[in-house]
Amino acid sequence: MINFTVGPVQSEDSVRAIGAEQVPYFRTAEFSEIMKENEKLMLEFTNAGENARTVFITGSGTASMEAVVMNTFDENDNVLVIVGGGFGQRFSQICDIHDIKHTDINLEFGKALTYDELYQYDNKGYTGLVVNIHETSTGVHYDLDMLGEFCKKNGMFFVVDAISSFLADEIDLAKNNVDVMITGSQKALACPPGISVIVLSEKAVKRVEGNNVKSMYFDLKSALSNGERGQTPFTPAVSILRQINKRLKNIKENGGVDSERAKIAALAEDFRNRIKDLPLEIVSNSLSNAVTPLAPKGASANDIFLILKDEYNIWVCPNGGELKDKVFRVGHIGALTIEDNETLVNALKDLEKRGILF
Ligand SMILES: *Cc1c(COP(=O)(O)O)cnc(C)c1O
Repeated sequence: MINFTVGPVQSEDSVRAIGAEQVPYFRTAEFSEIMKENEKLMLEFTNAGENARTVFITGSGTASMEAVVMNTFDENDNVLVIVGGGFGQRFSQICDIHDIKHTDINLEFGKALTYDELYQYDNKGYTGLVVNIHETSTGVHYDLDMLGEFCKKNGMFFVVDAISSFLADEIDLAKNNVDVMITGSQKALACPPGISVIVLSEKAVKRVEGNNVKSMYFDLKSALSNGERGQTPFTPAVSILRQINKRLKNIKENGGVDSERAKIAALAEDFRNRIKDLPLEIVSNSLSNAVTPLAPKGASANDIFLILKDEYNIWVCPNGGELKDKVFRVGHIGALTIEDNETLVNALKDLEKRGILF
């Protein structure tokens, strides 16, 4: 199978090899060193600034989305949530569950937030803004510069879910006034699922330390204090953290985040060029390098997903809900090559020849 989904994605061989090893005991100086290096590289790759910290949560991306809302907001906050798809809806739901006062900016799916839409909320007393910078469900990438400036102007605490965007699109915490960035192991980090990562600016660390969270597992204060010695409060997904370590070091050795992003961007561009003459419409007006969302003409999008899986050994990413038959997505993250793009595009051309796409 070739995997063009948005996660879990394909891992490089040196990362996969670690998954075959025995899981080492982790309350050791050796594992602490790995964790400290993971934290250091994440802070470097995101330009998180002085006294910033990174926390590794054993749990998928949603665990960190919830932990961040619980630990950085409280009853005095009034938060804006950008809702342009399934992941935005999830943040809104998390705020509901934890009684965080919030206003949702509901967008038409597939459309980016505009300056005028955002500035309707200017000077209205909001204390925070929460966004999935790449709304993976629809393939829309929002304007990070615009949002960061808005938050700075309004003195708002800025939380960015970059779970599918970190390493694929540019993100610079200091430059974009980002207070918290979240990512996950199974997206562009290209490791197995099970770990999510929270990068906290100095301001965010202070918020966490001043907050009284009613949770044991999701109390980031204990994660931060354990992290000072390279440890976690509870047994983490040890192997995945070792795989993340390998992956981060590989990125560093191969030119850092900029060259990793350039690689993903080149794969995306190559794919988008190759499909120009196919009966497929790109259905986002603001793309991430991570994903191309496509509306097929002729067949249902979900049927295309099934046919590619069962007859061509290719996974693309289906959509759920109201987009199920309308849109499928092609990911450009993970260990993929230009030859893989050729294979996928040849399969799509074959579907056209067979009259399935027209
Ligand atoms: C994948 C993803 C998540 C997290 O999903 P999990 O299944 O919990 O890992 C959250 N937000 C975005 C934008 C994502 O792409």
